[in-house]
Amino acid sequence: MENVRQKALAVLKRFYGYSSFYPMQLDVIECVMNRRDAVVLMPTGGGKSICFQIPALISEGCTIVVSPLLALMKDQVDALQANGIPAAAVNSTQSEAYNREVIDEVYAGHIKLLYISPERLLTELDTWAADMNISLIAIDEAHCISQWGHDFRPEYSRLSQLKQRFPKVPIMALTATADRLTRDDIVKQLHIPDARMFIASFNRPNLSLNVVRNLSGKDKMRALVRFIDRHKGQSGIIYCLSRANVEKMAQQLKQMGYNAAPFHAGMATAVKEKVQRDFLNDDITIICATIAFGMGINKSNVRWVVHSNMPRNMEGYYQEIGRAGRDGLPADTLMFYSFSDVATLMSFAKESGQATVNIEKLRRMQQYAEAGVCRRRILLSYFNERLECDCGNCDVCLNPPERIDGTVICQMALSAIARVNQQEGITTIIDILRGSRKAEIAARGYDRLKTYGVGRNLSFAEWNAYLLQMLQLGIIDVAYEEANHLRITDYGRDILHSMRQVQLSKFEYDRSFSKKTKAEKAKEQGRLPVDVPVNEKLISRLKELRYAVAKKQGVPPYIVFSDRVLEVIAAEKPVTKAAFSTLYGVGERKTELYWEAFTAAVRKFLEENPR
Ligand code: ADP
Ligand code: ZN
Repeated sequence: MENVRQKALAVLKRFYGYSSFYPMQLDVIECVMNRRDAVVLMPTGGGKSICFQIPALISEGCTIVVSPLLALMKDQVDALQANGIPAAAVNSTQSEAYNREVIDEVYAGHIKLLYISPERLLTELDTWAADMNISLIAIDEAHCISQWGHDFRPEYSRLSQLKQRFPKVPIMALTATADRLTRDDIVKQLHIPDARMFIASFNRPNLSLNVVRNLSGKDKMRALVRFIDRHKGQSGIIYCLSRANVEKMAQQLKQMGYNAAPFHAGMATAVKEKVQRDFLNDDITIICATIAFGMGINKSNVRWVVHSNMPRNMEGYYQEIGRAGRDGLPADTLMFYSFSDVATLMSFAKESGQATVNIEKLRRMQQYAEAGVCRRRILLSYFNERLECDCGNCDVCLNPPERIDGTVICQMALSAIARVNQQEGITTIIDILRGSRKAEIAARGYDRLKTYGVGRNLSFAEWNAYLLQMLQLGIIDVAYEEANHLRITDYGRDILHSMRQVQLSKFEYDRSFSKKTKAEKAKEQGRLPVDVPVNEKLISRLKELRYAVAKKQGVPPYIVFSDRVLEVIAAEKPVTKAAFSTLYGVGERKTELYWEAFTAAVRKFLEENPR
């Protein structure tokens, strides 16, 4: 096997310009080179593609890759071809004549990787089984085969025939999302009972995790703009709950001069495709989208993701933030979370077919949002993984909340709730506490209550935050079916009657985004994961060059080089072909194609900026 390992490493260097494997990649490669089936679970960005691409390159014959999405196929084929690897796709967007040509090429042994949709594969099977030299069958997004998964595709279920038709060909099933049930189902459906299971860590330490609570309207927009401005010119995605919110958000950002566009399922297909393409090509910087956006997006240089509202569950949340930082460089995520989000999502959950499950999932999401301990620990434990220590890259780790004695605060709120006979929602309760002069407060005689105005010294946002914590701690409850009226629990009654004390986390406006993230601190100190001092000026030059080169070739800029490679070029400043060829992410093909342009840019920069 030493031989396989050496070959694999040589191919990794030659075609991809990488000098070591990510965790588990080599084990997977060895497994299928021993002609054993494999199930591979890796998070987004974990490097799944290499797991089947390297075996394809060191084996005789052609590797078949089953992929459900046309956009993904195209992206992968582009990336492979850019590295000089003979790859092609057969699909319905190409002419039949072209598809036949591709298949002839496969027969002739000129193609190492063939991407194909499941339905197409099944129609071709009969003719192939006999005489095509197939080295491996890789099934991407394998969770689509299971009814238990969140993205079941009927056409995937017919892949169960593969093992029978190609008993000698190893099958590799890959996915980024599969719980145990789905995993077992994949094995069963594909008839690969002896498959080795590879489960990589789902930790993505390069993603910063930030949650901002209780901001609404203008405050929220201001916080968002501050966050975006810290990522000037960098690609990012803003997820909103509804189509209407998507439109509004995009409109507002555009008016403020940002290069933003909306994306949601209600838009015409051609428009959606254009938006997506422009985003991939760095012609649009910010996408405002419903969760419909992202499937099929392999763009490696998404630098940030914002959730403008709390997501419905942790699975969705993790998948969506996972679209940032695929290249392994630091990326920032921010989630806004408010009381009204919880109310809205709760009503969605109640109306959904599976209320119990969905409500429980929402609760877990809420616990994450309210966390007083390292968020990454909570996130990973949700996915059954244990982190040994605090991550140091979430808002809780970086700015631990200050604990205060909240007994009096709680008593004021509880007393207000009691005096309106538990018949009001959060806004009215806060209005009473703050002594609001709104007409409806006086109309209902609330200005004569004993608690009217007792909480004047706290802002609306502060009360909102403390009531949310009270909810989280089980001091109050929300009657979701009765206009979200606040109710006092038994625990709350004890507090109201001074039988218990409560600790709360002190509210600090802007807490999590006024301070620098770990990524920013690291950047300032010149400490990046790849240990390169950053030269912003040179990097932005290189980005311009990358953009121009990509336009000329008709591929997205990240296919030419990832952000990480540009940072390495900026750090190493190669001026010769030899120096350029040894860099991270620069294989033989890219050396030939790009060394002249990029070393010339470096040389010019050095001339203009002598030490
Ligand atoms: P996934 O499909 O699991 O989301 P990809 O296969 O797209 O991940 O890989 C994510 C990124 O990491 C790609 O840019 C890929 O080139 C890069 N990558 C994969 N393996 C390695 C490695 N061993 N060394 C450096 N970069 C790698
Ligand atoms: Zn943390």
